[in-house]
Amino acid sequence: MQPKVAIVGAGLVGSLLATQLSQRGHQVTLYERSSDMRAKGFIGGRSINLALSTRGLKALSLAGLEKAALEMALPMKSRMMHNRQGALTEQAYGAEDQAINSISRSGLNIMLLDAAERAGARLMFNAPCSGIDLQSGEMSLGGESVKADIVIGADGAFSALRNSLMKRQRFNYQQRFLEHGYKELRIPPAHDGSHQLSNQSLHIWPREQFMLIALPNLDGSFTCTLFMAFEGEQNSFDSIPDAETAEQFFKQHFADALQLMPTFKNDWDDNPTSPLVTVRCDPWSYQASDTQTLLIGDASHAIVPFYGQGMNSGFEDTTLLIEALEKNSDWKQAIQAFDQERYIDANAIADLALRNYIEMRDQVADPDFLLRKKMAARFQKLEPQRFIPMYSQVTFSHLPYRKALAGAHAQDQLFEQLLKRPNIHQEWESTEVDKQFRTWLDQQD
Ligand SMILES: Cc1cc2nc3c(=O)[nH]c(=O)nc-3n(C[C@H](O)[C@H](O)[C@H](O)COP(=O)(O)OP(=O)(O)OC[C@H]3O[C@@H](n4cnc5c(N)ncnc54)[C@H](O)[C@@H]3O)c2cc1C
Repeated sequence: MQPKVAIVGAGLVGSLLATQLSQRGHQVTLYERSSDMRAKGFIGGRSINLALSTRGLKALSLAGLEKAALEMALPMKSRMMHNRQGALTEQAYGAEDQAINSISRSGLNIMLLDAAERAGARLMFNAPCSGIDLQSGEMSLGGESVKADIVIGADGAFSALRNSLMKRQRFNYQQRFLEHGYKELRIPPAHDGSHQLSNQSLHIWPREQFMLIALPNLDGSFTCTLFMAFEGEQNSFDSIPDAETAEQFFKQHFADALQLMPTFKNDWDDNPTSPLVTVRCDPWSYQASDTQTLLIGDASHAIVPFYGQGMNSGFEDTTLLIEALEKNSDWKQAIQAFDQERYIDANAIADLALRNYIEMRDQVADPDFLLRKKMAARFQKLEPQRFIPMYSQVTFSHLPYRKALAGAHAQDQLFEQLLKRPNIHQEWESTEVDKQFRTWLDQQD
């Protein structure tokens, strides 16, 4: 008899996994604590967007959904830095044909819920899970008791399923809040409906201790996010008591963006200031005689958003779990194989994401950093088979994150050495620099 699969959480990862499993003939029920978001539609709500890239696209393509997702997305080929005077510097993310894709979170979620239903999954809304009996597989869902053979917790960073696993002995768990939080703001479309900034870039206003970013939406607007410390006498959310002070702060630091934000004060008051958390835990699964429980997506590895990899890594989880099910004879073996390997990569992308925060807010405006990016692009052209820039390893490849993290350390050493060369800013295209690069490359093989 087919095992009964219950997925808790119909967010991005849960609904994609439900689709993939149902398409492969599994009997899946998806339980979500909220009501069906499709009733409201995504047009009316606040538009929050995400950067979808190679790892996420592969998972969507396995479900036959890549094309539909890309049709709702805007490709961003570059980061566009805005300095205090409003001058712009553009930097390509990768090769000419590479881009990350700005996509509406709710639009994508709605598409995935429809796909899960089409594939045959049963969708149950208003079903909040308050925990599971790990031995019997019995869950409490909105007061009702439901039993399944396979229970997958895709219930996000504050997972109820994970809370049940935490009651076991030898469950490792760490939750760490960043001292910085975020607030979303909005740049509306121009009167003719067009975008007021280039819609082919992710815009960044790096200001060392804080930063503003903006991603384009299909309707001509941009969703902006201010990342800043919660506490501190200045440059912190605590130091800005009201929208009036916030406007003064923006005039000082983000004047070109503020000009494009007619609803700034209302947005400042209406939108919450939210925390950013990194969650690491292991093991992600529990095997009992009657039932298997597994965590996936943010429930097992919530990360800060600075590499744009939270959803992408959660989608990659689904690809790897499906592959494990194809390679192994039963769920138990597949879950064990997935769990043993994947948490190492999840820890690596958590580290990379934290590291990228410093890079985005402090370094993207630094001449040494800009030179480093130019040299990396040049090295890739010289040795395309042997050198992939760090950002591309994470964003445009399927390389396990642990390898990308090791590569990051090795590339740091190369660039630190090169930047010590006198006149490197003038001579970065010289044969001496190429020679030093090739010597380093040979040492990596
Ligand atoms: C500011 C910000 C920007 C980001 N930008 C990016 C980006 O550009 N690219 C990227 O890849 N990632 C990004 N992320 C990360 C991304 O949002 C998450 O990694 C992704 O949403 C995780 O998906 P999930 O399905 O695992 O969890 P969630 O999206 O949190 O979904 C969990 C679902 O479970 C439901 N649920 C929760 N508890 C229960 C319960 N007890 N019972 C039943 N249902 C429950 C919730 O209602 C929800 O529907 C960003 C995150 C933030 C905060």
